[in-house]
Parts: sequence; C-alpha cells; structure tokens
Amino acid sequence: MQSIVIVGGGAGGLELATRLGDTLGRKGQARVILVDRSPTHFWKPLLHTVASGKRDPQVYQIEYSAQAAAHGFTFMHAELRSVDRAARTLELAPCLSDEEGGAPAVRVQGYTTLVLALGAVTNFYGVPGAAEHVCTLDNVREAKGFYRRFFGACVRASEGGGKEGSAVNVVIVGGGATGVELAAELGYSARALAKYKIHTLDPARDVRITILERGPRLLPHLPLEQSARAEAYLRSRGIEICTGTGVTQVDADRVHMGEGTVRPASLTLWAAGVEGPAIVGTLGLQLSRMRQIMVKATLQSVDDPNVFAIGDCASFVCPVKGAAPPRAQVAHQQAVFLAKSLARALAAPRGGKRAAQPLHEFSYRDYGSLVSLGPVAAVGVLLGGAFGSKLPVSGGFAHLLYGLMYQKHLMALHGFVRAAAVTLADWLRKRISPSVKLH
Ligand SMILES: Cc1cc2nc3c(=O)[nH]c(=O)nc-3n(C[C@H](O)[C@H](O)[C@H](O)COP(=O)(O)OP(=O)(O)OC[C@H]3O[C@@H](n4cnc5c(N)ncnc54)[C@H](O)[C@@H]3O)c2cc1C
Repeated sequence: MQSIVIVGGGAGGLELATRLGDTLGRKGQARVILVDRSPTHFWKPLLHTVASGKRDPQVYQIEYSAQAAAHGFTFMHAELRSVDRAARTLELAPCLSDEEGGAPAVRVQGYTTLVLALGAVTNFYGVPGAAEHVCTLDNVREAKGFYRRFFGACVRASEGGGKEGSAVNVVIVGGGATGVELAAELGYSARALAKYKIHTLDPARDVRITILERGPRLLPHLPLEQSARAEAYLRSRGIEICTGTGVTQVDADRVHMGEGTVRPASLTLWAAGVEGPAIVGTLGLQLSRMRQIMVKATLQSVDDPNVFAIGDCASFVCPVKGAAPPRAQVAHQQAVFLAKSLARALAAPRGGKRAAQPLHEFSYRDYGSLVSLGPVAAVGVLLGGAFGSKLPVSGGFAHLLYGLMYQKHLMALHGFVRAAAVTLADWLRKRISPSVKLH
C-alpha cells in the first residue's frame, strides 16, 4: 500500500491529513501518516492572542491523536531529523519528555509520497544580537513565554509606582500583520490587567508599546488608506509608531536604530519576516531566497516528484500572479488542492488496477487580507468578483469577518456541527472567564 507521510500538522498539514484520511485512509487505499513534533495543533494566526494573555492555548488546541482516530490517519509524535530521498525514508526522533521516560531511539519511516508542511521560522536578517535577545512568535511555547515576561514586567512596573525607569517598554520590530495585531492586543491586555489583579498598574504611565517599521508605513500589503486607518487607530490607543526606522542591533535591554539612536526595551519582539526552517536546507532540494522549497504547479518539489511542499515552507511562484505569500490562506488552499490531487492520482479504479492519473496544477486565489486591531476592530481588504474588485473593510464588521477565518479552519477539521459546538463553547467561556490571563 502507498504511504503518504505529511510532516508538519499546522494550518496546511493537519487539514491535508484530515482530508486524505477521510478519503484514502478510511477506504484503505493509502496509509496516511502525520508527523509533528508537538502533540497538539494550535492555529498559528491566533498566536498573538496567546502572547497577549487573551487566549489559553490549552483550551484551543486540538489533540493530533484524537483527530487521527476520528479521520482515518495515523499520528506520530516525532521530529523530522533527516530525509534519505534515494531510499525514500525519514529519520524521526520521537518527542517524549523526561517525565514520560525520555526520548526512545530515532526511528526510520518509509514513504512513497512525502509532503513537507513544516511552516516557517523568524528571519532575523543577520541583525546582530537579534537571535540572542529578542522574543519570537513561532510557536505556542514562545507565545506563552512572551506573555509570562510581559506579565512579570507589568507587575514590576506597578510596584515601581511611576518612578523613572520603572515603565515596561515593549518594542515590536516589524509593522506587518503580526506586529500590528500583537501591539493592539497588548494595549488591551495592559488595560485589562489594571482592572483585575494589578490594581496599581497605570497602563498609560507604566506600559509603553512601540512598533518600529523600516518601511514608510504599517501593513504594506494593504492599500494606503487602510494602513493609515490602522495607524490612526493604534495611535489613539497610545501605541507609538516609528516608520522609516530600521533596527541595526539588539542588546538585552535596548535596540539600536542606526546613527547612534538607541531606544530602551524591556521586551523586544521580532516580527519582521519569516524564512523556511533550517532542516529544509539539508534536503538537497532547490530553495528560494527565503529558504523555502521551490515547488512546481503540482506542488511537487522541482527536484523530486515524490516530495511535495505546502504552506510557509514552500515557494510557489505563479507566472502571472507572482509568489504566493506565507499566509494561512495559501496553506489552506494548497491543502484542499493537494488532498484532491493525491486522492485522484492514488485512488485505485474499480477492478483494482491503478491507472496513473496526471496531477492537477495549483492556482492561488487571493481573497484579500484582514488584520485584527484587538477584540473589537480590524482593517483589511476583500478581493473578489469577476474583475478582481477591492473592497476595503474596517471596524466591527471587519473583525467579524476576521473571526470567520478561524471558524473556517475549524469547519475544515471538524465539520459544521462540531465547529459550531466549539464556537458556542468558546462564546460561553469568554462570558465566564477573565478577559486576560492573570498569572
Ligand atoms: C502571530 C501570527 C499571526 C498571523 N496571522 C495571519 C492571518 O491573519 N492570516 C493569515 O493568512 N496568516 C497569518 N499568519 C501566518 C500563518 O500562521 C501561516 O502562514 C500558516 O500557519 C502557515 O501554515 P503551515 O501549515 O505552512 O505551517 P504552520 O501552521 O506553521 O505549521 C507547521 C507545523 O510543522 C511542525 N514542524 C515544524 N518543524 C518540524 C519538524 N522538524 N518535525 C516535525 N514537525 C515539525 C510544527 O510543529 C507545526 O505544527 C500569522 C502568523 C503569525 C505568527
């Protein structure tokens, strides 16, 4: 039997495993295996809400093993160490903690089709001190770690009672979607903390949030008018925005911005760009400038027809529309496409004989982009219609649409009824829980 091994159960990989498990896996037409180094899935576009203490990842995560049991695929909790493309095998290191008895020996797993859906990691662009001193938002552990530091800094600042040097200076490097969304949420969290546990915290006096952006404006992927709207909204919430400001060096407690300008930073978060994870550089496959695997329109790597790549670790360039951006929207569309394409190519026709089916060609459709500005507002643009019209959206309506992106992801994984039940439970939980994590 064919073995389809998907490495990485993120926005693209888990949806692909679920769809292929439901089709090929359940019918016994292929063995579908998902490998991830984490035991649970958390949708990455929500990470800024973990980093701001708004969302408890324990509540929003999906157990891979439970999803696998319900959808006809096998889950392996392991980290990909290497790929032997000639032998079509993977070296996987099982991920067990010390409490669980430590990691067993590395195992070798064969494949007939390999799909790499490894996501991306923060790109520091070689800025000195960045890798050592900044926080990043690549996974749940880092997001939780950032909030713990932010929370501790707020407690210390409140005890400082407004004395010189006691304020928390949060510096966010990068004014793209991640930086903007985090800045907005942190502003709300600081006000919420003042309401709850840290009574003496004065957010306006004790918490300073700054976005440093090298380019001339925030959210360069949105139309000018929408990025101006986001900028005005953030400024009205007390967030400082410095555009045209590139960071040249980072120390433990400050960032350097060239020409001797220095800014104090109790916490620096780097949200200035992404690149493919280091392991993709060891596979002997052609990579893009951002260390992503170059793929053809079939999503096969340009060097090896048995290796596919989707999502942030893949570089798909459409001759007409250009490069697909590293976004959940792309990972989702590629997962839907590849699930159909592989199912069609691998499904045995009636009579048991397999006829080789040509693979389809992927085409990315951009439906627009929405950026959250905290719990009640968002900005963005919707693209659509026969003429590719652009519809700017903002405020509460845009935030409603932003929330629907996650619902869509839940529906793809659980179906309508379960996704609706999860959403209802979420709504009830929000009504009975504090709006921010208090420890
Ligand atoms: C704060 C934030 C906000 C964002 N907001 C948006 C948004 O509003 N809209 C949007 O479209 N996009 C957004 N994005 C981008 C979006 O999250 C990514 O484009 C999307 O998650 C990419 O999906 P993926 O499947 O390629 O990888 P990911 O979702 O990152 O998943 C990768 C998976 O691979 C696993 N993995 C990695 N290496 C290994 C290994 N060696 N062995 C085993 N497993 C491994 C990881 O554990 C992870 O589960 C945001 C990102 C961030 C960080």
